[in-house]
Amino acid sequence: MSENTTTTTTAPTENLRERALKLDATDPLAGRRALFALDDGVYLDGNSLGALPVHVPARVQDVLTRQWGELRIRSWDESGWWTAPERIGDRIAPLVGAAAGQIVVGDSTSVNVFKAVVAAVRIAGEGRDEILVDATTFPTDGYIASAAARLTGHRIVPVAPADVLAALGPRTAAVLLNHVDYRSGRLHDLPGLTAAVHAAGAVAVWDLCHSAGALPVGLDDHGVDLAVGCTYKYLNGGPGSPAYLYVAERHQTVFDSPLPGWNSHADPFGMTAGYAPADGSVRGRVGTPDIVSMLTLEAALDVWDGVSVDAVRAKSLALTDFFLECVEAYVPAGRVVSVTPAAHAERGSQVALRCAEAEPVMRRLIERGVVGDLRRPDVLRFGFTPLYVGFADAERAARILADVLAEVPAGNTVG
Ligand SMILES: *Cc1c(COP(=O)(O)O)cnc(C)c1O
Repeated sequence: MSENTTTTTTAPTENLRERALKLDATDPLAGRRALFALDDGVYLDGNSLGALPVHVPARVQDVLTRQWGELRIRSWDESGWWTAPERIGDRIAPLVGAAAGQIVVGDSTSVNVFKAVVAAVRIAGEGRDEILVDATTFPTDGYIASAAARLTGHRIVPVAPADVLAALGPRTAAVLLNHVDYRSGRLHDLPGLTAAVHAAGAVAVWDLCHSAGALPVGLDDHGVDLAVGCTYKYLNGGPGSPAYLYVAERHQTVFDSPLPGWNSHADPFGMTAGYAPADGSVRGRVGTPDIVSMLTLEAALDVWDGVSVDAVRAKSLALTDFFLECVEAYVPAGRVVSVTPAAHAERGSQVALRCAEAEPVMRRLIERGVVGDLRRPDVLRFGFTPLYVGFADAERAARILADVLAEVPAGNTVG
C-alpha cells in the first residue's frame, strides 16, 4: 500500500497522528486485530462483510475433510451438526443480551424477517390490521414485510422512525424497526420504542443487522418480542453466513411459523404427516441447515471469547469521534457533511459522509487501500469494527480522504 506522500505535514496532522498512536497503545481491544486476516490497508467495510478470522480456514477444512469426508452421515450426531442452529444461537445470545434458548441460526435475514413478521401479527391477534415498517429501511425488510402483510391480510404503514410514536394505535399489530440505520448509521431508541409498541398493545420486531457485534442490544432487558439479524457483518461469519432469529421465551409457545419445515417439528425423524411444532428456539428452524456456512460462523465467533460488548461500544464511539475529528481537521470545509448523528446515544458504529462526488471519491479511496463503500447517489460509508480497526487507521483514512478530495474537483461526479 503506497502511503500518500503529497500531504504537507502540518501541525494538526502531527497532533492527530500522535494521538492515534497513543490511543492505539492504550486500547484494550488492540490485540484482537492479530486474530484477523488483514493487509496493510484500512478496512472500513466490516459493516458489510466482516474480515476473516485467521483460524477459520483450518476449522472449515476439518469440517470438509474429516467431518464430511471421513465421518459422513455420522457427523449429524457425532460432529454436532444437527443441533448447530441452537448451539450457535446460544453463542450469539450474550452478544445481543439474550439468555440461552431463544436464538436459532439459519436461513437469511430476509427469510427470518418473513418468519418474524408473520409470527408477530399472529401473536398480536385479531382486530389489528396494520404493520408499521421503518420507511427508510434496508429494502429487503420492506419488500418482505409487504409480502407478509399481503398474505396475512394486513396493511403496511411506512413510517419514519421519528414518527413511530404518533403512528402507533389500536390497529397496530406489529412494528418492524432497524436498531441502526444501514445508510446513515443512526441508532434508534430500542428500549423506548419497544415500550411504546407494547403500550399500544402491539408486537415489536427488531432488525439487528447493523448493531449486533457493534454495541449492546439488551434484547431480554428491554422486553423485545422478536428480532432478526445477519452474521456476516460485525459478527464476521463469512459471505452469506446464516442469519438468526430471536423469539422471546414468553412467546415461544405461541410462535406460529409461516415456514413450518420438518426441522422445526417436535419429532423430525418420526416423519409423520401431521405437523407438531418443537418447543423452544428450534421452532424457528425450517429445513436442513447449511452446515458448512453454519460451522464457519461458529468458528468465527471464537474471536468474541472474553470480549465485553461494553468495551466494544466504548471503542466504537471513540473511533467514530476520532475519525470525525480527523475529517474535520483535514478535509476542506463543505466537501463532505456527516449524516451520522453526533450524539453518542444516536450513533451506531459507522460514519456516513454525504459527498457530491461520492462515486469517484470512493473508487480512489479503494485504490489507495481505504476500503469503505458507497450508498448511491452521494453517501460515503465507513464502518468501524472495533475488534480490528484502530485509531491510526481512522486517522489515515481521513488523511487519504482529504488527499483524494484534492484530486477530485468539486462537481466531478463521474471521473
Ligand atoms: C444486511 C441487511 C440485510 C441483509 O439481508 P439478507 O437476507 O442477508 O441479504 C437485511 N436487513 C438489513 C437491515 C441489513 O442491514
